Amino acid sequence: MGQITLRPDVVITMMRIANTLAARSTCKKLSVGCVLTDVNNRILSAGYNGLPKGWIHCKNEGNTICNWRCGATHAESNALLSCYAPRKEIHNCYVTHSPCLACMKQLIQTGCSYIYYREKSDEYNIASEYWYAADRLLCLAPSRSFLV
Ligand SMILES: [Zn+2]
Ligand SMILES: [Zn+2]
Repeated sequence: MGQITLRPDVVITMMRIANTLAARSTCKKLSVGCVLTDVNNRILSAGYNGLPKGWIHCKNEGNTICNWRCGATHAESNALLSCYAPRKEIHNCYVTHSPCLACMKQLIQTGCSYIYYREKSDEYNIASEYWYAADRLLCLAPSRSFLV
């Protein structure tokens, strides 16, 4: 009799990585993590939201800019910028917060077919309209993905 080994499924695993990366965020308002994988769920790239090189982190007390306009590059953008694979190879996006419109427009220009997210962001409605117009699927990862 083979022993049954319980292991987390791939969505849970990738969302855990996204959650872990979110803790690296340098923004005080929102911590976002993102993992991009290919069709076989091999990780192509990952990122979190943060200020461009040289800028004071939003989390630092001296930075008040974040209060009115955060200067952070978003997690999805950072993941796309550091992705060495051709953008058509991107198939899945695992992100803690559903992409804003700007990030959604970038993801649409890749091969990305599925977006799994933990929470809806403020721009969910308009961003998902663009996504559906591009004939893509928008997936909501089950909440249990983040508890186990
Ligand atoms: Zn910020
Ligand atoms: Zn964004």
